[in-house]
Amino acid sequence: MHKITEVLISESELMEKVEEMAKAIENDYKGEDIFIIGVLKGACVFVSDLMRKINLNVELDFMSVSSYGKSTKSSGVVKILKDLDLEIENKHVIIVEDIIDTGLTLKYLTENLRSRNPKSLKVCTLLDKPDRRKCHLDVDYIGFTIPDRFIVGYGIDCAEMYRNLPFIGIVSE
Ligand code: 5GP
Repeated sequence: MHKITEVLISESELMEKVEEMAKAIENDYKGEDIFIIGVLKGACVFVSDLMRKINLNVELDFMSVSSYGKSTKSSGVVKILKDLDLEIENKHVIIVEDIIDTGLTLKYLTENLRSRNPKSLKVCTLLDKPDRRKCHLDVDYIGFTIPDRFIVGYGIDCAEMYRNLPFIGIVSE
């Protein structure tokens, strides 16, 4: 069994940052309706906290894509496991991610979603690990930039465990 060895981001730090990010989004889209896409499963907690702090008309949908799971290497081949239920054409879309690592998942997702002709497309991530980036990505909202450590909690798992932790922690492997 893995153990949490360190709290990297506390519950109160997360709450404060989520509020700040929601206000930034609200400010950027003043008076517009937005369409949020939560990327499953990791972004489930973040997206539900974030959207409740955004005082705009919000539509919500989810996508699930395969990433590289427990391996530390990304093949760059991304598979859609669950597509959107709704159309995004002519909508202001924000993709909400838990963490960007190599960036390959998001690169695929943004290209795929852009081909569906949204009015605009932005990317919002709670965590960013820029050290491991393998492609260029424009990320519009970043919560925390973190070092290259394996983290869990606040929706993010290790072998499907730890998603319910209210903080972001580091596990020993
Ligand atoms: P990317 O395509 O950017 O390399 O993959 C991002 C995905 O990798 C995230 O959505 C997440 O599923 C996984 N990932 C990257 N870093 C971590 C980490 O530190 N902990 C966990 N649990 N998953 C991670």
